[in-house]
Amino acid sequence: MSLSQLRIGHGFDVHRFSEQYSAEKPLRLAGVTLPDKLSLLAHSDGDVVLHAVCDAILGSVGEGDIGTHFPDTDAAWANADSVNLLRQVLTLARNKGVAPSNVDITVVSQIPKLAPHRQALVARLADLLNLQSDQVNLKATTTEGLGYTGRKEGIACHCVVLMAPFA
Ligand code: MG
Repeated sequence: MSLSQLRIGHGFDVHRFSEQYSAEKPLRLAGVTLPDKLSLLAHSDGDVVLHAVCDAILGSVGEGDIGTHFPDTDAAWANADSVNLLRQVLTLARNKGVAPSNVDITVVSQIPKLAPHRQALVARLADLLNLQSDQVNLKATTTEGLGYTGRKEGIACHCVVLMAPFA
């Protein structure tokens, strides 16, 4: 493998909290439904982590962004399970000869506390991305009360992915 076969991508996503918790739209991060009584406003299930991962993978293979592939004006993606979006994005990347080698994710939010769920989120991501858990890193940070995440208005997520040819 030569270095030129490696691809890197970055993804960023934000979703705003809805004012009311909706049992139909529980908080989902990295494909895991969290117990906190919080909901995010979104056309899909609002999984900011998976959206950032999808955008990072799409970026790595020069395929634009998630909005291009799954427009939020398309009823087909209403309340979509983002796991299905990720699966399609992974297929697209594999068709171009690469798959994730490792991912590094930073979730930015004041609420909820993610530490109790971190291992579950990493395990789910490793499973979805066909990686070992030590190839998936998930960090959570607050912004010390500053800005929109600090005001508990929403959750932001950054992701960097390294893509490599697969056997
Ligand atoms: Mg999104």
